[in-house]
Amino acid sequence: MGNVNTILTNARTNFERAAKRLTGVCSDDVLAKIREPKERIEITLAPQLSDGKVHVFKAFVVRYSDALGPAKGGIRLSPTTSIDDVHGLAMEMTWKCALIGVPFGGGKSGIVADPLTLNPRDKEIVIRSFARNAHRHISPFVYVPAPDMGTNDIDMGHIKDVIASNFGGATTHGCYVTGKPIIMGGIAGRREATGRGVAMTAVEAMKLCKLDPKSSTAIVQGFGNVGSVAAKALSDLGLKIVGIGDVFGAIYSANGIDVSALNDHVAKTGKVTCFTGAENIDGQKLLEMPCDLLVPAAAANQITEQNAANVKAKVIAEGANSPTTPKADAILEEKGVFVIPDILCNAGGVFVSYLEYTQETQQEQMAEEVVHQRLAERMAKTFRQVHALAGEQKVSMRDAAMLLAVQRVCAALTARGMLP
Ligand code: NAD
Repeated sequence: MGNVNTILTNARTNFERAAKRLTGVCSDDVLAKIREPKERIEITLAPQLSDGKVHVFKAFVVRYSDALGPAKGGIRLSPTTSIDDVHGLAMEMTWKCALIGVPFGGGKSGIVADPLTLNPRDKEIVIRSFARNAHRHISPFVYVPAPDMGTNDIDMGHIKDVIASNFGGATTHGCYVTGKPIIMGGIAGRREATGRGVAMTAVEAMKLCKLDPKSSTAIVQGFGNVGSVAAKALSDLGLKIVGIGDVFGAIYSANGIDVSALNDHVAKTGKVTCFTGAENIDGQKLLEMPCDLLVPAAAANQITEQNAANVKAKVIAEGANSPTTPKADAILEEKGVFVIPDILCNAGGVFVSYLEYTQETQQEQMAEEVVHQRLAERMAKTFRQVHALAGEQKVSMRDAAMLLAVQRVCAALTARGMLP
């Protein structure tokens, strides 16, 4: 079992590589403090679902760090999530928030349930049960959740409603959750922010690799919130999308896939497969098909020591969290593949969540063009910072991103002081 890759083992390996380089720069005491999460909480939900029976679900909240501000991170609803996964994802959120420069710490939640088998009514009951039972861990000053795999804006709206009702109010005082429907205080452009940010960083990397988007091809694994938006944004930038996959399988067409038409097909059938004009292929084979840009935007541990050598892409943009194992990283580096690490590539979502947080605190409304502009500026600036450090220190983009992020969290902890 020692060699099994998990989100947590990947996160720890990446942290230790940074910690080693930061010995002497950050104190050992501070590094010891951020090696472990502040809180790991397990909750039992037992709602009565629409069949009239009580169903028991495990849920987790991990507040990894609040050195820079309230913990921030999405709620994953998945049949396979575990407290260790949530711990690893909360650790990653800590570095992501520090890197993209928002005043948040890192957190994450998980609910062990299957979004594909819960009907919409039952999903709402489970989400409301989570909000009621996890309420004391959620606040603008403690932990602010958002959507992640298996959850969306509708779910965040239900969470705000539960918390507002608990206070007996129509709304909450400040921002308890981001990624809400716009009509409930959400922000224009949040749903698209992660996918757009992925496309923005991918194009920056392609420029450095002398790849012209207008004559390049891309493959996207995952066609949910992040994958579908990234695919559309890349296609709008001129890339030909030749392959797309989801949990049920994948499709490939050397002539290109019409992403808008695929959206309609998925809305009708629930899957990307059996799409006119593309052939069905094996979901894992998708990652090894010819393309210039590969965007893993689904599950963790997809690019591993087993398939990394067969990846044809010259650039990998990590839309998903932890899609590449550390051993695969070494193989890709050796091959000269440009990897945009998850904590940079998919940080657009948390950046726009920060705008939503400030908007709600100030009772303001921000226009979508302003959101888009600020997102584009922040992604480009952070990409440049990471790339410059990678060049200076002769390290990978992942190592450079981790160095910047961990150093910022260490600086915040040092400024706060080490007691009690
Ligand atoms: P989602 O639930 O909207 O969509 C997930 C997609 O991935 C679906 O198309 C699903 O079929 C597919 N998928 C799931 N497991 C798969 C597997 N084993 N193989 C192939 N495809 C699979 O989720 P999302 O919000 O798009 O999140 C996708 C990834 O992006 C996750 O790793 C998530 O942590 C990360 N992420 C999301 C956000 C966000 O704002 N939603 C922000 C940062 C990172």
